[in-house]
Amino acid sequence: MAVSKEKIWFLRHEGHGVAIVRAESFEQATVAAAKFWGVPWAKVAAGIEVERTKPLMTNICAKCGKMFQGGKEILCTHCEKAQREEDAEKVRIQRKIRERYKQEARKRRRENEEGRSAELEA
Ligand SMILES: [Zn+2]
Repeated sequence: MAVSKEKIWFLRHEGHGVAIVRAESFEQATVAAAKFWGVPWAKVAAGIEVERTKPLMTNICAKCGKMFQGGKEILCTHCEKAQREEDAEKVRIQRKIRERYKQEARKRRRENEEGRSAELEA
């Protein structure tokens, strides 16, 4: 069996969650993770942390450990799908939080302005 320098990397980024990628080095892994998250590498590179690494095993799912016919894939179709759904859910939640924060900020600004005009009228 040919020895590959590739490993499986579990990379975490606050705001994007965990990406499971295969790569030879941390740098390569961060590039793959950025691609997975669909964001520019330069934007996330500094915030990426290694959660853990695992030796690469062909046709063994990196997440659940089950055997599967995957070729170069590292996750079985079940885990791959689960991860995509999990990420989509996270993005939805973050968007909601950001929206709420913006609304709160607007409300606070409005209250401040009303407070100020009330003072002027008094
Ligand atoms: Zn799996």
